[in-house]
Amino acid sequence: MRYSALSIFKQAFAGNLGWTPAWREPAPKSHYDVIIVGGGGHGLATAYYLAREFGIRNIAVVEKGYLGSGNVGRNTTIVRSNYMLPGNEPFYEFSLKLWEGLEQELNYNVMFSQRGIINLYHNDGQRDQYIRRGNAMMMEGVGAELLDRESLKKMLPFLNFEHARFPIMGGLLQKRAGTARHDAVAWGFARGADRLGVDLIQNCEVTGIRRENGAVTGVETTRGFIGCNKLALAAAGNTSRVGEMAGLKLPIESHVLQAFVTEGLKPCIDHVITYGAGHFYISQSDKGGLVFGAEIDGYSSYAQRGNLATAEHVMEEGVTMIPGLSRVRVLRAWGGVMDMSMDGSPIIDRTPIENLYLNCGWCYGGFKATPASGFCFAHLIAKGESHHVARALRLDRFERGFPIDEAGVGTQPNLH
Ligand SMILES: Cc1cc2nc3c(=O)[nH]c(=O)nc-3n(C[C@H](O)[C@H](O)[C@H](O)COP(=O)(O)OP(=O)(O)OC[C@H]3O[C@@H](n4cnc5c(N)ncnc54)[C@H](O)[C@@H]3O)c2cc1C
Repeated sequence: MRYSALSIFKQAFAGNLGWTPAWREPAPKSHYDVIIVGGGGHGLATAYYLAREFGIRNIAVVEKGYLGSGNVGRNTTIVRSNYMLPGNEPFYEFSLKLWEGLEQELNYNVMFSQRGIINLYHNDGQRDQYIRRGNAMMMEGVGAELLDRESLKKMLPFLNFEHARFPIMGGLLQKRAGTARHDAVAWGFARGADRLGVDLIQNCEVTGIRRENGAVTGVETTRGFIGCNKLALAAAGNTSRVGEMAGLKLPIESHVLQAFVTEGLKPCIDHVITYGAGHFYISQSDKGGLVFGAEIDGYSSYAQRGNLATAEHVMEEGVTMIPGLSRVRVLRAWGGVMDMSMDGSPIIDRTPIENLYLNCGWCYGGFKATPASGFCFAHLIAKGESHHVARALRLDRFERGFPIDEAGVGTQPNLH
């Protein structure tokens, strides 16, 4: 069923009884060409592009919970491509370009809103570093603008410009960045993949990976064994657990990241804003709630919830940046499990095990990567070689001494 203004109109007159389910609920078949573990944004996007771009349609996405129950439905929805390093920038810009046509492509309203992101800076050193990043972005054709304090004051008068420790001196703006409705992205890719014949199998946990003569031949699941020619892992925060089933020890640590949403307010924040003195980021949803988050909780965990000490720290950062926030009530908070890589950059690669492919290491930032990650992973699985924008995202880069360290903090996952 195609969605359109006309279909809404027609259904309104038919009592809204004619809408069909967005995807089927198939029972698993005994064998698929490709099985994707993880019905999050990346797994679903991979299935969609495999079927749409590369003509492989005998695919199953196997999800232990419900589609979108992981990080894709838990993030703070920021989409941007303001990276600096050559291994990252072309990949994220490719992703942003896919976002720009995604709603038409999927015939689904993912509420993509290019409202711009502003990264605030607080001292001369940080300004110079942002200038460098802005120049790198412009060299890639991404577009960047340096804002001084006076123009920021006009745009964002509610910020605390005069803070004694962290005075705001300016910001780096990427105008084409913004937000999207996170779970709509999962639903849009799921519906698109289902229409192309992909089986989306929910409530089906992968509990083991079967191998013959070293090569992967299928997965043991809570709904029985399912065979496959190729197995693709897109399990985000559970990557190390799933990898272990194939005997792989991966350069990933799982950490909790929390998100917070306030009561609905009249429109007041019309950009995404990030605080350079900490890691706080905030935007306003279309319903009016302020959506924000900051650092990870700082300990390894597979729990989808965080602790109060970090919640308190996030609130402190928020109020330091926008004092008026102290008057707003927080309504909801939740956590997600982040697949933190050693250098803060992702991995889209084959593994040393035959037929086993890997997509992980998204840290805080995998939501914005969803379309490109799916496209590039599908490219790798179908063609056996990396897409040109994802060539640097290799699993063996740590061994070879080529980490992609945007934050410049070394190979320490909890600092990225
Ligand atoms: C609070 C928070 C805020 C964030 N903010 C942003 C942001 O603003 N911008 C941004 O770009 N990124 C953000 N991220 C990161 C982003 O959400 C993730 O990097 C991205 O969603 C991860 O990819 P995914 O969607 O495929 O993961 P997920 O949605 O987690 O998908 C993985 C799926 O695998 C399933 N799975 C795991 N193990 C098994 C198994 N054994 N068998 C079957 N299925 C299994 C899980 O149930 C899950 O559904 C944020 C994350 C969090 C938690």
